[in-house]
Amino acid sequence: MNVEIINTGSELMLGRVLNTHQQWLCRRLADLGHVVTRQVAIADDGSEIQNAVREALSRADLVITTGGLGPTSDDITRELVAQLLGRKLVQNQDVVEHIKGFFAKRNRQPPLKTDVETFVPEGALVFLNQTGTAPGLAMHVPSSTLNPPSSSSKKWLIMLPGPPRELRPMFDDAVVPLLKREFAAENFVCRTLRSTGIGESRVQEMIEAGLEEFVKRGLGVGYCARPGAVDVRLTASGSGAESLVRYGGAVVQTILGDHIFGSDDDEIENVVVHLLKEHKKTVALAESCTGGGIANRITNVPGASAVFLGGVVSYANSAKETLLGVSPEILQQHGAVSEPVAREMALGARAEFSSDFAVAVTGIAGPDGGTPDKPVGTVFIALASADGVEVERLLNPWDRLTFKDVTATQVLERLRRRLVG
Ligand code: ATP
Repeated sequence: MNVEIINTGSELMLGRVLNTHQQWLCRRLADLGHVVTRQVAIADDGSEIQNAVREALSRADLVITTGGLGPTSDDITRELVAQLLGRKLVQNQDVVEHIKGFFAKRNRQPPLKTDVETFVPEGALVFLNQTGTAPGLAMHVPSSTLNPPSSSSKKWLIMLPGPPRELRPMFDDAVVPLLKREFAAENFVCRTLRSTGIGESRVQEMIEAGLEEFVKRGLGVGYCARPGAVDVRLTASGSGAESLVRYGGAVVQTILGDHIFGSDDDEIENVVVHLLKEHKKTVALAESCTGGGIANRITNVPGASAVFLGGVVSYANSAKETLLGVSPEILQQHGAVSEPVAREMALGARAEFSSDFAVAVTGIAGPDGGTPDKPVGTVFIALASADGVEVERLLNPWDRLTFKDVTATQVLERLRRRLVG
């Protein structure tokens, strides 16, 4: 089955809003066994929207549009599609009642402008909007109404509202049952193995030969580089899809070994918190250049309080001295970004919090502050435990935000590796 998505909205084209529908819908559809074949984003412009819907319907069995269903002057998708398909807009009493109820709950009268949302193309299925007012719409489009007519008899056009908090529940509650009813999905399996510590090209070099035999049998392999991590995506469809992905995954796991920290939606911080719990260990942090970013990631994990005791954001030298007991002489002699300072920060945090582990990080995020000896991107990561302190020097010569993100991932990775031995 061919599925196409059309995201409308001038705000997308102006770079003012990130097109999250594209990613969210593709993911949801793939999980249902329907891989999207094409996706376009277009401005709120009459002829462009009509052209895009016409073209998509000529190719695809299912077309999903997002946005432009609201009450304002730039919300024109419903009207344009009705015109394109030669359908009258008729008032839907369920939508009228829904909108009345929506505003009554808020002790308000419906604004006159919402009236336009009560008109829907004749014959359309209406999805009442549980978190807003504009209904979603679904239309079975007979091929004879298309110009030129299509050979496929099953064509559906689904129109969803723009705001993510409206689109997402509507998709799950109303669109998923419709798709299950109308389109038998091909068995499709997608598994992502997440690795750290090796670059994207090296990952491919390492696993390519081992996967060759499975690729010949239909396994799809994709790579996605992220800050400090590389995802290996394995996909397959058809009756043998599960075993193909499982065997391919086992090969990747064997070759990359400990570099694999998880799969699919696993984040390295979730894995670290889980391992700390499993080993009944606690951790504390002494952060300088990451500015609290590591603590933020750890505390994003539900249940982190069982293993994370706290952290110090010791950005200034004075904070390193007073909060972590780093000696002024060492700071003076080696500089704040140095192996001895990272070591003392980790020891200080471990003593301060009485934790099993303490990780310290100090580095030069840039764009200024680099020297020939310690260029921008230089980082020292220290890990203190009952066995002593290990310090590692790394270079992350990226822009400031990427530097912080990559460095935080590397710190979490050090901890993970220590925990898995
Ligand atoms: P409304 O009733 O709010 O006008 P609508 O169905 O007409 O809803 P739009 O006006 O196109 O939708 O978009 C409303 C808001 O939804 C946008 O300002 C934006 O914040 C968000 N939005 C729209 N499209 C996307 C998208 N592709 N990805 C993420 N957010 C989006």
